[in-house]
Amino acid sequence: MSTSEVHVVPARHGKAVKVPSGATLKIVTPVGTQVADTWAFSAADFSEHLSMDHTRSVNSNIFVDKGTRLVSNLRRPMLTVIDDTSPGRHDTLLCPCNAAIYREHGVTGYHRSCTDNLHEALRDIGADIAFTPAAMNVFMNIPVAEDGSVSRLPPRSRPGDALFLRAEMDLVVVVSACPQDITPINGADRTPTDIHLEIVAPSSAPWHHRR
Ligand SMILES: [Zn+2]
Repeated sequence: MSTSEVHVVPARHGKAVKVPSGATLKIVTPVGTQVADTWAFSAADFSEHLSMDHTRSVNSNIFVDKGTRLVSNLRRPMLTVIDDTSPGRHDTLLCPCNAAIYREHGVTGYHRSCTDNLHEALRDIGADIAFTPAAMNVFMNIPVAEDGSVSRLPPRSRPGDALFLRAEMDLVVVVSACPQDITPINGADRTPTDIHLEIVAPSSAPWHHRR
């Protein structure tokens, strides 16, 4: 027996969801070209969060692929990549987009950002944090050359591609459908689109009894 819930993360916005230990989180790009900046926090203590630098260290790799162990700033397992229908390109290096980046692009008014989406989504569930961890940039295509230079290219994923993650502890996961519409990081037509989340949990998961 299991329960399943589906969430739409609207284009340019973020959403926080509870993912109990043992559940599977599926992150889908229905159009195929949408980057999903993804953070995870221990539901018990938000100061423990998914850490890209510890994840690169533990896996001795800068990319995320099937089998990758995603660990916290305390180096404890938070999520495991159990499947990936995409060409397997997910960035761990670059910062989530933020107000300063859009100013560098010449934007003078307000522009939504993944950083703002993180804090907005946390506030929606009555939480917030005073810092912005590095995100796992799902579907973001950042090739790294021999000399260490990086390129920012449109996603290689296809419509409906999905990354499957298993939660190794009770988590709050935040996903931002990246609002970047000035560069082609969300596809050549520079139009952000929705991200879909599906959470499949054993029906005995304690959070479902508590609600
Ligand atoms: Zn972004």
